[in-house]
Amino acid sequence: MANVLAFAETRGAELRKVALEAVTAARQLADATGGGEVHALLMGAPGIASHAAALGAHGADVVLVVEHPGLALYSPEVAAATAAERTRSGGYRAAIFSASARGKDLAPRVAAKLGVSMASDVTSLEPNGDAIVVRHPTYTGKIIATLRLTGTPAIITVRPGAVPPAPNARAGRVGRVAPALDPAAARVVPKELVQGNTAKLDLGEAPVIVSGGRGLKAPENFRLVEELAAAFGNAAVGATRAVTDDGWRPHSDQIGQTGRLVSPDLYIACGISGAIQHLAGMRTSKTIVAINKDKDAPIFKIADYGIVGDVLEVLPVLTEAVKKAKQNG
Ligand SMILES: Cc1cc2nc3c(=O)[nH]c(=O)nc-3n(C[C@H](O)[C@H](O)[C@H](O)COP(=O)(O)OP(=O)(O)OC[C@H]3O[C@@H](n4cnc5c(N)ncnc54)[C@H](O)[C@@H]3O)c2cc1C
Repeated sequence: MANVLAFAETRGAELRKVALEAVTAARQLADATGGGEVHALLMGAPGIASHAAALGAHGADVVLVVEHPGLALYSPEVAAATAAERTRSGGYRAAIFSASARGKDLAPRVAAKLGVSMASDVTSLEPNGDAIVVRHPTYTGKIIATLRLTGTPAIITVRPGAVPPAPNARAGRVGRVAPALDPAAARVVPKELVQGNTAKLDLGEAPVIVSGGRGLKAPENFRLVEELAAAFGNAAVGATRAVTDDGWRPHSDQIGQTGRLVSPDLYIACGISGAIQHLAGMRTSKTIVAINKDKDAPIFKIADYGIVGDVLEVLPVLTEAVKKAKQNG
């Protein structure tokens, strides 16, 4: 039986979906090792403790709340010192973070402070004897490495979307923890968070992603992609690097090796060739649909469903079909 720590990621006063994913992954790991406790580490400005119930509902036995006015914005040094101190003193078998931008910053700092090994961007994790076995896509997703983590604690980042949040009600008892470093004494003090379009669903949180590439021919044709996303109601719009480099879409929309890594339930690739650098960011999506006029386009090799046709003609038809399906419940 082993206790597991989960880092509950926030953005400002909001709890992120990846926080629930980390808690879910920690719960599954704890249960599979005989039912240890899951402790969620939740840091932020005073009031952040209000998210303890959501963490408890997803499997946290204890929510360790670190509230401080200096933690309204993510402070890398304070978060790393506090998470490392908690991981050390808690005697956890593993500490789970998201492989989000923040998790990628924080988890290696924690591993380095503790002098322990870490596995990054894993898509599954399970105990095997005394080890934890994780799967990690590598070489832009061409190879799935299976890693056995034998050291304790194991520091693990989980790819956003790979472990969907699953309700699993636990007590979510709140415990208070002081920051291991005074935020005012940190060498880096974040001053401001510049937010993009907050009305947009985040790529890492959306269950459906409709993504466009150069096959759309012109930036104004992304309207068709946006309309399909709007018809779903729970979809975000992504893009290839070819179109973000050309300024058709903001760089924050880019999916791939040098962009966002996503694993939605449904990924619809519109006019995208399927270059390996793009596949690296989306090939772990649960269901992939590709629309391309070239029947030999590489994207069809990983697609579950393929439509060979002109994306400018296919998209309006798909959008109407989705709208109808929604109307009919
Ligand atoms: C170091 C490095 C890192 C990179 N990182 C990334 C990354 O993170 N993400 C990323 O996406 N790319 C990345 N790239 C770029 C990548 O190699 C490709 O160039 C890019 O993904 C291609 O984008 P695309 O599919 O939109 O364009 P193209 O490769 O030009 O493909 C366009 C596709 O549209 C189809 N098409 C054309 N007209 C139509 C039509 N009317 N209807 C239907 N289909 C049509 C064509 O058949 C074609 O398959 C990286 C490259 C390098 C070297």
